[in-house]
Amino acid sequence: MKHNITLIPGDGIGPEITSATVRIIEAAGVDVEWSTHILGAQAQEKYGTTLPDDAISSIRQNKVALKGPIMTPVGKGFTSVNVGLRKALDLYANVRPVKALPNVPCRYPELDLVIVRENTEGLYSGIEHVVVPGVVESLKVITEKASRRIVKYAFEFARDNGRRKVTAVHKANIMKLSDGLFLDLFYEVSKDFPDIEADDKIIDNCCMQLVMRPEQFDVLVMENLYGDILSDLCAGLIGGLGLAPGANIGEQGAVFEAVHGSAPDIAGQGIANPTAILMSGLMMLRHIGENDAAERAEKAMLAVFAEGKYLTRDLGGTTNTADFASAIIEKLRANETAAA
Ligand code: ATP
Repeated sequence: MKHNITLIPGDGIGPEITSATVRIIEAAGVDVEWSTHILGAQAQEKYGTTLPDDAISSIRQNKVALKGPIMTPVGKGFTSVNVGLRKALDLYANVRPVKALPNVPCRYPELDLVIVRENTEGLYSGIEHVVVPGVVESLKVITEKASRRIVKYAFEFARDNGRRKVTAVHKANIMKLSDGLFLDLFYEVSKDFPDIEADDKIIDNCCMQLVMRPEQFDVLVMENLYGDILSDLCAGLIGGLGLAPGANIGEQGAVFEAVHGSAPDIAGQGIANPTAILMSGLMMLRHIGENDAAERAEKAMLAVFAEGKYLTRDLGGTTNTADFASAIIEKLRANETAAA
C-alpha cells in the first residue's frame, strides 16, 4: 500500500537527518509518496508567511507528517513555528518516549518511560502584554477541556501500551487554580482507568526524583512548559538530545519530530545524529500500520548500536550522518538475506 506523507525537512540539521530517515524508511520497503513542504524562515522568504496554507493543508489531507526542526530565534518578531503548527492542527498530545539504547554511555541504561505533554496551551498560550513599561505579563492558560483530553490520552496510551502507572506533574501547591484544575481532573479521569495506577509529583521534586530514581516512573503527563523542560532532562538521562524522538498527535493528523532543535552549531557539516528523527519515523510507521517495517528498521538500528562501530560524534564516534544511515540499511539488507 502506498502512503502519502508530508515531509518537512526543516532548518539547520533538519535536511541532513530527515534525508537519512527517508532512506531508511524506503530501504525497509515502505512505499511512500512524499509531499515536501517548507515552513518557518524559508517559507517567510518565499511566501511571506512562516506557516503557509499549502503545508498545513497537505498535513490535513495526508494526516501524517515527518518534520525536521524549525528554528525559532529568541526575542521579538518571530513567534514559534513549531507551536503555531501544533495549534493550527490542534495536535494536542506530544508523546516523547525516553528509552536508552545499547552501547550508548548514559546514566540509566535501563530507563524506559514516556512523557505525555499537553501541546496547545499553558504558558505557550502566546498571550503576553506590557502592562506599563517595565512590567510584562505572560498568561498561563489552563482549560478543563484541554486538561481532560490530555489526561485521558495519557491513560489510554498507558493502557494500550501495557504501561502500569501514570504520574501527573504539576505545581498545584503554588498555582492552586491552574495546576489545581489540572490535578483535580487528573484524579477524576483516573477513576475510569482502575487498572492503571495514578499518582502525582510536584515538578521540582519530580526533577530530582528523575535524576535519582527514574525507575519509579512510567508514563508522566503534564502541561506544556513542564513537558518541554522534562523532555530535555530525560534526554540527558539516556545519552542526549540526538536520541529523543517525539510525536504530536491530534484528531486532524499527526506530526512526528525529534525533541531537539535545529542545532545551528553543527548544521551543514553532515555530522548530526539522525537517531531521534529516525525513531520518530519509526513511531510514524507504527502509527500508519507499517509495524513490520518499523520492527525491521528498529532491529537494524539496534544492531548498529550494539555493534558500536558506527556511532556519531555526539556519542563519541566518528561516523557521519549519511554513513550511519548506510550502516543501518546494510544491517536491514543483511537481516533480510539471512531470513530469506
Ligand atoms: P532550537 O532553538 O532550534 O531549539 P537549540 O540550539 O537551542 O536550537 P538544539 O538544536 O536542540 O537547541 O541543540 C542543543 C545542543 O544539542 C546543540 O549543541 C546541538 O548541537 C546538540 N544537538 C541537538 N540535536 C542534535 C543531534 N541530532 N545530533 C547531535 N547533536 C545535537
